Amino acid sequence: MSIVKLHDKYFKSFIKADKIDESIRKMAVLVEQDCEGEIPIFIGILNGSFMFVADFVRAYKGNCEVSFVKLASYKGTGSTGKVKELVGINENLEGRTVIILEDIIDTGNTLEEIFNIFRNKKVKQLKIATLFFKPDVFRKGLPIDYIGIPIPNKFIVGYGLDYDGLGRNLADIYQLTTQKMTNIVLFGPPGAGKGTQADVLKEKYDLIHISTGDVFRYNIKNETELGVLARSYMDKGDLVPDEVTIDMLKAEVDKNGDANGFIFDGFPRTESQAKALDAFLQEKGETINGMVALEVPEDLLVARLLKRGETSRRPDDQDESKIRNRFNEYETKTAILKHYYEDQDKYYGVDGVGSIEEITERLSAVFDTL
Ligand code: AMP
Repeated sequence: MSIVKLHDKYFKSFIKADKIDESIRKMAVLVEQDCEGEIPIFIGILNGSFMFVADFVRAYKGNCEVSFVKLASYKGTGSTGKVKELVGINENLEGRTVIILEDIIDTGNTLEEIFNIFRNKKVKQLKIATLFFKPDVFRKGLPIDYIGIPIPNKFIVGYGLDYDGLGRNLADIYQLTTQKMTNIVLFGPPGAGKGTQADVLKEKYDLIHISTGDVFRYNIKNETELGVLARSYMDKGDLVPDEVTIDMLKAEVDKNGDANGFIFDGFPRTESQAKALDAFLQEKGETINGMVALEVPEDLLVARLLKRGETSRRPDDQDESKIRNRFNEYETKTAILKHYYEDQDKYYGVDGVGSIEEITERLSAVFDTL
């Protein structure tokens, strides 16, 4: 799972290494075209740019020189207070094409310092290339010649960038999050194999599996108040009312306050359950990372459920009319949740036909990215 903790804060996956790589290759080609017939000198601004520079110059096919500088602050005696000074430039830059490689440009304060410093070095031309750029906070009228990936105003780490010294070695970019958990809705019609898969995945990813159906069955077996209430609905294959189900789900989550996250199986099943879950998680600074849906054709499902009914002894698995009613509930109330999560860019469909192992593998490929 891709949440990392650095010092006291949590960061979640934001931009993957392959996307960074692709963007750097494109930049390198553009710079190369503009530098035809010249040997540019690339100057990386330390510390953050070391990975970017290493990958950029590897992707740059022409002849070039590479150097690094560091902008050091010291207390000036003048009225401005802080003055920036360049440390580490030994090359004579007079008459050269200098291309600054920055990992990130946000407000543009550092960029302005760079322009001031290079103003009296008599370079032929000074160009700026930045891997990440925050257009929303950039306040300066200075030109940026090459931009890799524009990003919203988020605090990011990884790929050379740090949070208080840590995180530079991460291959991907991560963004600050209050989220500590990985929460996944395992979705699909009755009989899709959610329970079977959740049993494997909860171990593999160290998550708590909450199956609302199982919780109801446990209550029915123990003849609790909740069980008595739920039974009348469940036996017919109807959904249990939202208020009852939502309260029960919240209690199950709260029982496991220090979990790494949850696999929700059989919940949410209606739009109001989905909204209640979002609101409930938001109060805790958490969110749903993704809905992972097992996609299986209905005919196959009916056969699977009737077969399961031979051994499960579940009343709702026993006859075809109850099974059909569960599908009807699914089609009319639950299937729309695909759009609910699609609209948030959180829907991941997985082919649910195949051996248990094959399907686990497909699901794991998605879980790994969440
Ligand atoms: P399952 O084991 O997930 O197939 O659920 C069996 C039955 O439990 C369903 O047919 C419903 O009657 C009830 N149930 C389980 N989860 C929910 C839910 N989220 N909302 C309403 N009813 C549910």
